[in-house]
This record gives sequence, structure tokens and C-alpha cells, in this order.
Amino acid sequence: MFGYGRKNFTWNGTLRELEGRCPAFCTERGGRSMTASTSSSSGLEVLLSTLQNAGDVESTLNILSVLDELLSAGTDRRIHYMISKGGSEALLTTLVNTGRSFSPNYTVLLPLLHLLAKVGHRDRRIGMKAEKAGAVLLTLNLLKHNIENATRAAACLWVIQVFSSSVSTANLIGENHGLDVIYSLIPQYSTKHLPTIKAAINAFAALLCTKANVCSVVSKGYISGLLQLYEDWHSKDTQHVAIAICHALLHCLHKVTHSTAGRQAFISHGGTRLLYETTQKCLLSKGLESLVEPSVQLMRKCLPGTPLPLTSDQSAYKFPLPGRPHAVPDMDVAPDDSSEESDEEEDEDNQEADSKDYDDDLETDLNKLRNRPDPDRPKELLPQYSHLCPELSHDFQELDLSSEPEESSTASSSSSDEEAVLLNCFPLRSSRRDSSTTSSDSSTSSSGSHSETETEGHTSAAVQLEARDFHSHSSILCTSPSLRTMVREAREEAPPAQRGDELDDEERGAEESHHRTMIDKLLERHRDCIPHHEPKLYRAAAAKTKSIPGFSILAFPDFWGHLPPPGHTHMAPRKPNIQRQKVFEDIQRFLKTDDIINQVVFDLEDGSLQCPSDSLKFFSKFECGNLRKAIQVRRYEYDLILNADANCSQHTQWFYFEVSNMVADVPYRFNVINCEKSNSQFNYGMQPVLYSVREALEGRPHWVRSGTEICYFRNHFCPARGRRRTTFYTLTFTISFKHNEDVCYLAYHYPYTYSALKAHLKVLQKSVDPAMVFFREQILCTTLAENSCPVVTITACPASRSWKDMHQLRNRPYIVLTGRVHPGESNASWVMKGTLEFLCSSDPVAQSLREDFVFKIIPMLNPDGVINGTNRCDLSGEDLNRQWSKPDPVLSPTIYHTKGLLYYLNSIGRTPLVFCDYHGHSRKKNVFLYGCSVKETLWQSGSAVDTVGLKEDPGYRTIPKTLDRIAPAFSFNSCNYLVEKSRSATARVVVWREMGVLRSYTMESTYNGCDQGIYKGLQTGTKELQEMGMKFCQSLLSVTKDMKALYIWRLINHIDLDHNILDHKSHNCFEDDEPPCVEEIEYSTDCPALTGTDLDSDVNSNMASADKEEEGDEGHRGAKYRQGSVSQSQQSGVKSHLFPHLIRQASIETHCNGVSIATEQFTS
Ligand SMILES: [Zn+2]
Repeated sequence: MFGYGRKNFTWNGTLRELEGRCPAFCTERGGRSMTASTSSSSGLEVLLSTLQNAGDVESTLNILSVLDELLSAGTDRRIHYMISKGGSEALLTTLVNTGRSFSPNYTVLLPLLHLLAKVGHRDRRIGMKAEKAGAVLLTLNLLKHNIENATRAAACLWVIQVFSSSVSTANLIGENHGLDVIYSLIPQYSTKHLPTIKAAINAFAALLCTKANVCSVVSKGYISGLLQLYEDWHSKDTQHVAIAICHALLHCLHKVTHSTAGRQAFISHGGTRLLYETTQKCLLSKGLESLVEPSVQLMRKCLPGTPLPLTSDQSAYKFPLPGRPHAVPDMDVAPDDSSEESDEEEDEDNQEADSKDYDDDLETDLNKLRNRPDPDRPKELLPQYSHLCPELSHDFQELDLSSEPEESSTASSSSSDEEAVLLNCFPLRSSRRDSSTTSSDSSTSSSGSHSETETEGHTSAAVQLEARDFHSHSSILCTSPSLRTMVREAREEAPPAQRGDELDDEERGAEESHHRTMIDKLLERHRDCIPHHEPKLYRAAAAKTKSIPGFSILAFPDFWGHLPPPGHTHMAPRKPNIQRQKVFEDIQRFLKTDDIINQVVFDLEDGSLQCPSDSLKFFSKFECGNLRKAIQVRRYEYDLILNADANCSQHTQWFYFEVSNMVADVPYRFNVINCEKSNSQFNYGMQPVLYSVREALEGRPHWVRSGTEICYFRNHFCPARGRRRTTFYTLTFTISFKHNEDVCYLAYHYPYTYSALKAHLKVLQKSVDPAMVFFREQILCTTLAENSCPVVTITACPASRSWKDMHQLRNRPYIVLTGRVHPGESNASWVMKGTLEFLCSSDPVAQSLREDFVFKIIPMLNPDGVINGTNRCDLSGEDLNRQWSKPDPVLSPTIYHTKGLLYYLNSIGRTPLVFCDYHGHSRKKNVFLYGCSVKETLWQSGSAVDTVGLKEDPGYRTIPKTLDRIAPAFSFNSCNYLVEKSRSATARVVVWREMGVLRSYTMESTYNGCDQGIYKGLQTGTKELQEMGMKFCQSLLSVTKDMKALYIWRLINHIDLDHNILDHKSHNCFEDDEPPCVEEIEYSTDCPALTGTDLDSDVNSNMASADKEEEGDEGHRGAKYRQGSVSQSQQSGVKSHLFPHLIRQASIETHCNGVSIATEQFTS
């Protein structure tokens, strides 16, 4: 901290004396406990008053010396105390008194200016005070008179710099030609007077805090001058002694480019190229490293905004909404109310209370927290939902009949249904068109309730779709020679001679049957490889899925299936300076270097686009696909533009596309350039996922985390049209593909399509023993695009039809689970998959849960969004999780009917015990729950409402507490139970408030991984997500009253103990979302402003040289200066150099009676 030499303690004695009279001087709240001028003024006040009135040089010097010693020994608090006691005003008065004379006394002025610089630097109102005292122009005059004297000029410049913290003062100086005077003091490269030059540049930069000064500088052409100066200093400073000067010049350029005109001048004078070239030199030299970051930031800031190369910001997918066929809102032409440049736009995409300021957003209205709002619809509308509770009316007659044959016949009828679907989809088109093959999802439900009837016309459309799909898909498989070989192997036939595009229809038919054989052969080899996945079933389901563009191709991973790879994937380490490097590469594009190609190679809206034979091929026109455009930037670099949500111009984040025609082992850089979130887990170890068809065909059908050199940062792109204030971010990653000519898929996260859900439910239905498990898939409703939204009922069949067993069944509490309301949150679907599979399993806990509860599960609340690859919304362009208060039956049917079902359960006295909506969270790690609590909300909001008398069942904490013990990915400390106003229309809050469900949750699963527990540092895979779904079910045992279940529950705890899962908790506390990223991701980052110590050390070194000046030792000054500027670190350790040694000595003698005291203090 301090050099505890004798000298430094000199003034402790004086300090003690001061303390004696002014005990508050060194206490915490000194400022407050003092009154300004009592009869017994403090020592400090006496000093300040003496200073202003002192007539003679010697006493002024002595007082200045005392003040300097005082202020140098302690912390900034002393200076602030002095400021509060009128220190600045006293110094300014003294300055005006001394400086006004015709021949000012510089023995006094110099230390006075130095002290003023130090104090003023910490006084936010110094500019105003200086103006009031008339010190501003006086100082400027002093500067003008001392241009030849480096030491004096430097002192004036520091004071001017400090004064310029006020806009009006800076303008005053600017109006009086201060800018020109100071600018003239910045010479070309020189080794002399470096601190003075630096002081001039810093003062110049400080003056640029006002618009008027910046305009003046731009109009006078100083920008090109500054650039030339930078180039000159940079190129000639071979010994790296003037880095501080270069920094200061960059700082000036940063200031001056705050204005549009400044940025334009910077560009037109070749600023970008100049900085680009100097930066390249910096990168080669260790000594110049520190100039790289400010240079890169400066270039980045000046890059002109580039509109995305799109014809419209509106999604490429448009869907006419019922009732308003042309009412697609056109955001593009919406006038922007402000043309002013804004750095930050409200990030409205907080999924759930993440970085929000709780206090503003918390619901503090007790009525709203406690009273149930009126239902949004009349009671008469509720009975329609009775058919969605077949378990309540089903008579289980089959239990009485001799069970075996009957059940197998049920099963076989179900499977023959499936076969019918399948056959229907591999047609020789004409053959099977009889009505018996129209399928019905709920045909196995003997209650004969609502079923998915389809018109004949529709079915045949699906058939055709499937056929086309089949063909196109296999032709993709055949595009690459390696795959062709594999296909041939599978076919066990010789390579065909020629396979052209000029096939007539007959040949096409033959082709199709070839492909069919081929696929079948491959499937045979593949059979049973992936549990709960059947490619044929998937294809059948996909044939019925309706999309806006009419997808005709299946993405291979969805069709073939995904198996989690063995082992775990660690979070990707972040390479140092990776962002800087990527930004630097992006800047190169503007310099139009030879390697820039800039050619569109994929356009979702232009199918006829021909792309060069040596570029990557992209494709995204399949279920869940999202890629709108790909532009080859350099040979191995591509910009990717994502499609906005359908009927919308926003919410880009989710991507999923196919890429082919690659060369193995070449690092390809991909830049997703229109991301919208302001930060991303991609900055914290998350990787995108990759699926290789080649690998899959070789027996490794895995989505794997992939990509290196990943980072996420703000870019210079802006919307294509209109002036919507949007900031875009780049996600960049580099992939080296393993195989030549492979077909690969890249996605934001493990995809899970709507067709996958449909197929999965079919498999599950077939997998359960109908004598044990009551499993019903029904249709909740159809969506805007006429896809069915499935609702699944799972419970245990009663042991018999006895009154007791039936009574138990009909009185089981309900658990309602929903998911995937946000289509981009595919992790939610994997968690749901885990839940569904567990509930259908023969696990004793699952059996116990089925006997205790009836599960109503709506696994995908937003099928249309999922199908069309949107990220946030459904086809009406709305976030469905903000529609729960008053859902529109036409525009938000899934929400409307889910709420209807809940109302219905409510109306028959069967309010669910637990409700949980599964989500994904893009900015946090781990898995956690949001719940609802009146008390916690009121406490957290600091509300004055007295909560003592308020009764609240603490049961809402049971499940999270349990999960914390049994689920390794779960983090109890990330949970909260606050009711936010901005979330008042979400499922969680509405179900809690309107339905009175105590345990109403949102479950958020990370896209990235965990920072605690046994998965700490690992990225999450589908296995871990599914495990979470299972653990959530297990945790439900904690809310059961059933003794048998509790017994099993104890068993689980016991097992988990054995597995050592329980000891992983309790060390993650309430931290920020993320540790600060190694590099700033924003480019508002300026050159770091001068800190107090920087200025102090400059001032101090000036004094040392002032000594020499007094001694007339001009000759060594250059060297001295240079040393001063180089070894700042050395100086910062030195506390006080303000005064020449002689004067210091004198003042010591005058005031010193404290040395011994200090020494005693020190030794005691
Ligand atoms: Zn969500």
C-alpha cells in the first residue's frame, strides 16, 4: 500500500493534530457530522481560509505543501472531504488571485495547478466552479503564454482537462479557440516533452465531450490530422516509448467518432485502413499489444451499418390469419419515432424473470395476488372437455373378459392401424385408397370420443407429399459419391451407368421403388438401434404434418433418429482474444481484400439459385428447419441469415439446416449474423450441435456438440428495410467436417420435431401393457395450420372393476404437464420425452405414480411454430405464453383449450395438484423452477403490506426441494417464486391465480450445461434432459399421501445416496448469471478513461522535472520525461512528488512534531 518510510509518516502527526480539533476528519461519515463554519472550525477549514487570504508566497507554498501531503497520504476520501469543505473553490480563488497579475509567480502557480488538477479530477462540479471563479479562460491564457515551457504548459493542460468535465466549460474553452491552441501543441513524433504532449492530447480529448466541439473539430479537418499524427507516432516509435501517446490519440479518435459526421470523416480519410494496417503491426509485437483492442473497437464502431441482404425483414413464411387474410403486420414500414442512435434496445425476450429488475416488475397488489379473477368464458362451454377425461367414464370392461387374447387384439388393432398409415404412405399411389385406411389417432379409445377424422382428399394429399418426400430425400442421399457407395452396398447392386435429371415419369417410378428398396435395406441394418424411434413411423407421421411452405423433404436426423453419444462433452474452452480476432476478420471485409467473395449460395425464397460447384450447399426447407440465406464470404467462410418467426419480423435465434459438399478437415467459419439476444451461452462454453449422415450410416447416429472458436458479439448489420431499431449479434463458430462430401446438419440445439412427437406417442402407446397402463392420445384441438395438438392421459388401470378400485381411480389427483410453447426450446421436448417414457415404463416408481395420479400431458403447445422452425411465436406472430389471461379461441386455440381443460377439471372439483410448463432457458445454466408465492413476492418487492397475518401453504417448495436432492442438473438456488407483472399472462401465473393451483411451475432447462453438481462443466445432452424429465416425475412422489408410494420414495432416496448424487448441492449461491466474459461483448467499449492515479502520476512526474527546471538542468529533461512516461508503474508507488525537495523540507520543519509519534505508531 504505502511506502512506510519516515517521510510518508511525516504528516500523520499533523493529521492527528487536525483530528484533535476535527475528529470527523478521518471518520467514516466525517462530511455529515461537520457543520461548515462553526466558531471552532476544523483545521482543514483554517488551512483553506488562510490559503485564500495569504498574501505572501512562503505561507501560500507552505499551505499548499501541507495540503498536498495530507491528500497524498490517504485515500480519495480525504480529497472528497476537502472538496466538501470548499477545497476546490479555495484553490480556484488562489489561482485567480495569483494568475491574474501581469507576471505571475510560477513558484506558487505550478504547485497550485498541480494540486488543482488532482483535486479537480475528483470534483464532479469543478467545471462549474471554475467558471464561477473566472478561472477557465485565465488558465487558457496561462497556457497560451507558456507554450514554450513544457512543464508549465503541462500543468495548465491538466487543469483544462479537468475543467472540461463540464459541457458548458468545454464549450467555453472551445469558443475561445482552446481547441486550436491545444491541437497546435500536438507535434509529429518527438522524443521530447512526452508528458506535455500527452497532456495536450488528453485535454483535447476531454474537450470533445460536447457536440459543438466535435462538430468544430470535424469541420476543421482535424480528424485527418489526428490520423496522420497517429500514423506518424506509431510508425516512428520503434522503441515503444510513446505508447501512451498512441493510446491518447486513439482516445481522441474514439471521442470524435461519437458523432455520425466524425465516423464519416474517419472512414473517408482512410481511418479504417490505417488502423487495420497499424493493428497488424501491433499484433506482431508484444510491446504494442495494448493498442490492438482500442484500435479494433474504434474500427468496429466506425463500420457503417450494413442492411441485411434481404428484400424484407418479414419472415419468408407468411400465413393468412383467419378473419384477416391480409393483416400481416408490416413492421418494415412502421415509422421510427426517433432517429437518434441508441446503444441498447430493450431486450424483451426474457423468458422468465432472468435479468429483470424484480422490484419494478413484482406484483404488489394484494388483490391481484390473492383474488381469483372471473373465468374468461361461460360455464356452459366447459362440458365439451369431458371427453378429454376418458379415464372418468371408461368402464374397463376388458378387465372382466379373459384378458390375454382380447388385449393382444386391441394391441394388434392399434398396430394394424399404424401399418395402415405406413402402407398408405408407401403407395404405389393408386392401390390403397380405400376409406378403411384413414387413420384415427384416438380410434383405440373405446369411449369413442373426439377423433381425428380426415377427409379422403386430405389423406391422398398426404400420400403424395410422402411420395415426393421419399424421392427427394433419397436423392439427397445420393448426391454425394461416398453416400452413393453406401447406398449401393445396401442395395447390393452395381453402380448405375448414368443417372440424369432427364428421367421420364416411368423411370421416376422405377427410381422411387429403387430408393424404397434402398431405404428398406438400410433400415433393416439400422433396426432397433434407437429406442422409441421407428423411421417408418416417423415418415408416416411427417406425411400428415402441415407446414406453411409444404415441406416435401425430411431431415435425415429426424427420420433416422438420434442416439446420445457415449460419454459427456465438456463446455468448450474460450480461446483468448477470440472475439477480437473474429471482429478483426470482419473488418477486413470492408477493406475489400482479394479474398472476399460475397456470393449468395442459398436462398430459401429462390429455389432456382445456382451455387458454385466448390461452395458448401445449404438447405433448410424441412420441418423445424431455419436458415433463410447463406452467403459465401470467403473461400471457407459463410454468413448465415435466419428466418424471422412466421408472420413476424423478429425473434431469430433457432437454426437448423443441412450442409453438404464439404471438404474434410478444413476449418469452415459460419457466422449467424442476425441473432437478436444481447448475450448468449455461446460466450460461456456452449456449442451448437452437428449430425453427420455418414456417421449415422456407419452406426453412430448422434447429434454431437461441435464447433470451435465460438463467440457471440454485436455486429454492424441492421434491418434490411425500414428503420426499426434493432441491434444484431453475430454467432460465429468454426467446424471441421470429418468426411469429404458428407451430408451434415447443424442446429442451435438438439432438434425435436412435431412429427417426432407424433411418432413417439405411437411408439409409446404400443409399448405399454394396456392391462396395466391406461394410455390415451387424443386431440386437444387443431391449430391454425390444422395440425392436431395431442393431449395424452396416463394413469394406471384399476386392479379390477370392483367399486373400490374404480372409486380409487376416479379420485386420483391430477397432474397437468405442458411443454414447447416456445418452438425454439427443443430442450423442453427432450425433457418431456423423458417424462413420457418414464411414466409409461415398468419402473416401480412409475407404477406407483400411475396408481396415485392421473397425468394429463400436452407435450407440444405450439405445433405450428415447431413445424415451421420459428423460435418464439406461433403463426399469429404472438408469444403464446403471453396469451393465457384471455386466449383467443381462433388465434391461440391450443392455449384456449388447455385452459378450457383446466377450467373443466376445476369445475368438477378435480383441480390439478401440480401444473408444470416445460421451457428452455438460453441464458442460464442448470435446470430450475419458477413458482408463485404471495409472501415471497411481497418480501422481495419491499412492499409495505404486512405479511404476518397472511397464510400461505409452503407446499410450493416441496418439489423444488426434492429435485435439488435427486436431480443432478437441478439447481434449487436458481429457482424463485415471484409473481411478476410482466408474466401475468403466462401459464404459470394464470394457472396459479385463476385455477388456484398451489404448485404451478415453469421448468427451465439450460441449452448449455451445469455449473454445479456432478455435471459441472459439462454440456447437457439429450440423455441428461430426458433424465431431468424422469426426475421431475420422481419428485412428484413427495406430494403424494399414499403410504406405499412413500415407501418407494424412501427407497429412491436410499438408492440416490448410494449413487452419491446427494452431496453435490448447496455450494452454488446467488451469483450473477455469468462471470464476466473474458472480453467485452459490446462495442461501446471506449478507450479506458484516465483514472485518477494516471493523472496523479503524470502530475507527480511533472513536478520532479520542475525540480530540474529550477536547477536549470535542461539537458537531461528529454530523458527524464521519457522515463516518466515509460515507467508509470514505478511512479504510482510514489505518493507525493508535488513539491520540490527544499520546500518539502521546509514545511516539514515548520509543522513537524509528528515524526516520533508516527514512528511510535508504526513500531507499536
Ligand atoms: Zn420458454
